[in-house]
Amino acid sequence: MEKSLIIFKPDCMQRKLVGHVISRLENAGLTPVACKIMDLDEGLLREHYAHLVHLPFFPEIVEFMSSAPVMVIIFEGENAVERVRNILGPTDSQKAPAGTIRGDFGLDKMHNIAHASDSKDSAEKEMARFFK
Ligand code: ADP
Repeated sequence: MEKSLIIFKPDCMQRKLVGHVISRLENAGLTPVACKIMDLDEGLLREHYAHLVHLPFFPEIVEFMSSAPVMVIIFEGENAVERVRNILGPTDSQKAPAGTIRGDFGLDKMHNIAHASDSKDSAEKEMARFFK
């Protein structure tokens, strides 16, 4: 059994897609084991997106990700990290295949519905970060 940390971004929350996204993950056999709604501030976003802070669009990411509350969920299941990433699809919603969450609901590179841990190591760090 493996765990992955998912964040339903402000676009997911505001467009009322939370139920759809949870259903897709549950239908894939994954189980939610922890959940909270929170506001993300710049400090937490700089830590979470440390690999992006030097990029010109980072201020826009902060603006978007702090524009409304997000839902942070841990899903558990076999090979959860890789499977959730596959169900989510690639970063750019325009390039994400139909049938993936980002392909079906995302708008562009920034507004792509959800974050999901990209490795087991990131999942451990992110779970510690968001569920202190
Ligand atoms: P992922 O979320 O697929 O793991 P990254 O870690 O590369 O992708 O990026 C984190 C988030 O930053 C993306 O989900 C997206 O919201 C935003 N982002 C990444 N690249 C871009 C870009 N070129 N333009 C606008 N936003 C971006």
